[in-house]
Amino acid sequence: MANLALVGIGKIARDQHVPALEASTDWTLAATVSRSGTVPGVPAYTDLETCLAAHPEIDTVSLCLPPQPRFAYARAALEAGRHVMLEKPPGQSLAEVSTLAGIAGAQQRTLYASWHSRAARAVRAARDWRSTRAVTGGEIIWKEDVRRWHPGQDWVFEPGGMGVFDPGINALSILTEILPAPVHLLSAALSVPANRQTPIAAHLDFSGAITAAFDWRQEGPQTWTIEIRTDDGTLKLLDGGDRLTVDGVEIAVDGPGEYPALYARLAALTATGASDVDLAPMIHVADALSLGRRQTVAAFHF
Ligand code: NAP
Repeated sequence: MANLALVGIGKIARDQHVPALEASTDWTLAATVSRSGTVPGVPAYTDLETCLAAHPEIDTVSLCLPPQPRFAYARAALEAGRHVMLEKPPGQSLAEVSTLAGIAGAQQRTLYASWHSRAARAVRAARDWRSTRAVTGGEIIWKEDVRRWHPGQDWVFEPGGMGVFDPGINALSILTEILPAPVHLLSAALSVPANRQTPIAAHLDFSGAITAAFDWRQEGPQTWTIEIRTDDGTLKLLDGGDRLTVDGVEIAVDGPGEYPALYARLAALTATGASDVDLAPMIHVADALSLGRRQTVAAFHF
């Protein structure tokens, strides 16, 4: 068992990271770092440097902070000789993640830019099914209620928070995993609340007849689907990648689930010091924010 420090004890740390670590046979949650959040029974620090100085046995740091403050923590951990896992999106800008990858290489430490949706149960089966077929088009629909999933998290509407691309990038991480070749963004329409900095909804048109509709204003049933049309049938990923149908017929899938799979992957990477940093999903978001035509919509309040 290797020792790990978890940084940023908030929603996703409590919902997913802590249970996955508690069930893991690879990892011991040896300390937390958070300004106020703690995990019962685990030594808690409010400062990363103090934590790492007190715990030389901790060789890996997993960062669950929002993207805006993450770079400074990641750099400090790498420069202190620790492996680092990043929640998605891996940073608030492409250049800062590239800088981290360079530091990891120089330090011969692992940098793992995780994409939890790629580890959803049906994604590998979808990729395998698609691998023998030619893609003719596709449609992503990712519509959820921001008040339900990000209650009070104003950082998502601040610069670097990416707005609706915070969940949308999960769909793009799956898309870039299962397509045979890269696509690129042709155009985008962004709906930005009058009182906010980032979009609450977006429509994207990609090469290869692929479209995406992201919306954070969906109340009632939530929708996270990806349909990929091929020369030999249509696959549909449902429930964020947990279920798969082919031509409407459900295909059985299994697997450990997203966060247990991420921590197993982290263990494999740190065993050799290898890194895994794929920026493809984030490049599409940066392109959308660059190419997107902005429309101001109603002010949004949590
Ligand atoms: P969160 O609950 O708002 O933030 C996590 C914790 O980070 C906070 O509780 C806070 O803990 C600390 N933090 C916040 N701002 C900080 C700052 N400026 N400086 C230092 N620490 C700060 O966010 P989250 O929902 O867990 O999301 C964190 C990351 O996980 C995001 O990148 C998100 O995309 C990803 N993610 C979230 C979900 C989800 O369902 N929410 C799902 C998958 C992935 P302290 O106040 O104790 O320091």
